Amino acid sequence: MSFKAGFVALVGRPNVGKSTLLNSLVEHKIAITTPKPQTTRDNIRGILTTEDAQIIFVDTPGIHKSKQKLSAQMVKRAYEAISDVDVIMLLVDASKPFSKGDALVLDSIKDINKPKFLIVNKVDKITKQELLEYLSNNIDESLFDEIIPVSALKEKNLQELIETVKQYLPEDVQYYPTDMISDYPESFIISEIVREKVLLNTEEEIPHSVAVQVEEITRKPNVLYIRCAIVVEKQSQKGIIIGKNGRMIKKIASDSRAELEERFDSKVYLETFVRVEDDWRNRQSQLKEFGYWDSNE
Ligand code: GDP
Ligand code: MG
Repeated sequence: MSFKAGFVALVGRPNVGKSTLLNSLVEHKIAITTPKPQTTRDNIRGILTTEDAQIIFVDTPGIHKSKQKLSAQMVKRAYEAISDVDVIMLLVDASKPFSKGDALVLDSIKDINKPKFLIVNKVDKITKQELLEYLSNNIDESLFDEIIPVSALKEKNLQELIETVKQYLPEDVQYYPTDMISDYPESFIISEIVREKVLLNTEEEIPHSVAVQVEEITRKPNVLYIRCAIVVEKQSQKGIIIGKNGRMIKKIASDSRAELEERFDSKVYLETFVRVEDDWRNRQSQLKEFGYWDSNE
């Protein structure tokens, strides 16, 4: 039996379900997902290993226009991810009208000479008839090698997607060990989990200006000790994150701890504190420090 291996990029405007699909495909939480757009900051690899194939999925920040440096960097990463894969998957949300954002992403990949899949997500929210209408109204089918409707959330039709991808991958050896589901370090996964809880617990005032820096991870006999800083741009944001009588940060910490304990299958002692760093998003040196900027740039 021949073994196949290769890379698949997930592209699409924010909120179409890229991170959810990645998580469902590898059946383990790697990318954070929240109802807010632009939650994903970097290209995250999820690794799916079966008996006859290894598929490495690269999740990308939504391709979109934006002025701030961090966003420019995010967009650059997205295009880098595309240039280096065997298959490109464009995700769209079938429950929303095909938008300018969708068109922009489609435009950016349509001339790339690689197998392209259209993944029509969130079909759990619509009828069959609506799906057919969505496809016939919006999509030039000739641009795609495959069109696959799925529900990332309800895990519908994912097996079909996996089997179809395999047909497009080259014969190759396994890149990563069988039990590996991501090539990101522990500290990255921890900071993403905490950042997700911050975004889920706060309203619009705490947008994407928040970063989480893991300052210490220590394995003690019966507990994993983690200390991390929640970094914000303004004093007012610090107040929001701490909350009245410290209630907000307690909630963030306890939600984070619950998920970390599940993830690491260990008791977790989590210490969190808030730090203000002015306008960190526009300072390249700090982007480097947070790992969002390649050091050779
Ligand atoms: P991304 O920005 O493309 O990575 O999108 P996310 O994966 O973060 O998902 C955005 C929102 O859409 C979240 O609230 C998800 O729960 C939701 N979502 C994703 N996939 C599906 C799906 O198949 N069905 C439904 N009903 N919701 C979904
Ligand atoms: Mg995402």
